[in-house]
Amino acid sequence: MEESLVRKKAELILGGDVRIPEGFRAPFRISKSTAGPGAGKRGVVFAFGGTRVKKGIVDSGGDFELIVKEEGYSLNRNGETFIDNVTIEPVIFHAPGQAFFNMDNRCIFRCIYCKSPNLENGSRVSGEKMASMIRGLPEGTGIGGIAITSGVAGGIEETVRGMIECVSVLHKEFPNLPIGVEPYVNEKSQIEAFRNAGVSEMKINVETARKDIFDLACPGLDQDTLLEMLEHSVSVFGRGKVASNIIIGLGETDGDVEAMMERLCDMGVVPGLRPLKAGPEELVRISGILGAPAGTDAERVVSLAKTQKRILEEHGLDVSGFRTMCFACGCCDLVPFRDL
Ligand code: SF4
Ligand code: SF4
Repeated sequence: MEESLVRKKAELILGGDVRIPEGFRAPFRISKSTAGPGAGKRGVVFAFGGTRVKKGIVDSGGDFELIVKEEGYSLNRNGETFIDNVTIEPVIFHAPGQAFFNMDNRCIFRCIYCKSPNLENGSRVSGEKMASMIRGLPEGTGIGGIAITSGVAGGIEETVRGMIECVSVLHKEFPNLPIGVEPYVNEKSQIEAFRNAGVSEMKINVETARKDIFDLACPGLDQDTLLEMLEHSVSVFGRGKVASNIIIGLGETDGDVEAMMERLCDMGVVPGLRPLKAGPEELVRISGILGAPAGTDAERVVSLAKTQKRILEEHGLDVSGFRTMCFACGCCDLVPFRDL
């Protein structure tokens, strides 16, 4: 993708919502996310130049504006065209091309940047419900994979059991679709259990580039355990089939991010870089505990993505092993080898 569009994608990811014109009718069903950077918001996927970004939409305010043209759309910023030749892509569940479910958005933990525990109406979605939602998709829907994430409701063991039950139901009914999961795990046997149930791609997030930041940001969770689980996951699923997100913008330096990416790649894990997207409530929490976040600009996002690509290449890794979750979706990050 052109360098200027790479930067614009970074700016769009970091920026606020997209204002839609009065009476706008999206060409596809609008999704409302319960996990990820857009948690709690109505979201639309805007595609341009071979990439795409999912943004929250609002009727007033926002940092960008959707312009409906005779043919297609453009995105404006400050009254000027920011990105032209934009199309709108359909979302299956949460993401384009995949059915990505949040099994439970309640969580016993309180990671300081996480919106999920603050969303209302927490409840568990069963595997049967997920399967019936997929069954109910219009004929011809191009579904390329299934993914499940979850908050930790009740306890770690219980949540893992619930996710495994969902995977079993889904794998039995849709044996040809790859299934990815994003659990919080603390026992190696849980990883084998996921594989035995039908999982083919694993994502365990280390969350922060430095352990001291992790300990403050994710009280009650243990980053060393997560790293141990990641290493074991590679032995179960293979190199390049295990991913891990690092949030950037929590006070870490570029050197910290680079060191964590090296550590993950040494194990055969593919690191994803996720710019911090915090709402007002989360920002207050983050500032109180870590100090005011310095903020991450587009230049830093682009430069770290280039470093990410270099480190992946040096380790013979890429993102091609993923047909589910964030690397397959690509809506919230710069994806190495695809965007740059
Ligand atoms: S473990 Fe942390 S990041 Fe995950 S859902 Fe719970 S609070 Fe959010
Ligand atoms: S990149 Fe990940 S968090 Fe963002 S919309 Fe896609 S699947 Fe969801």
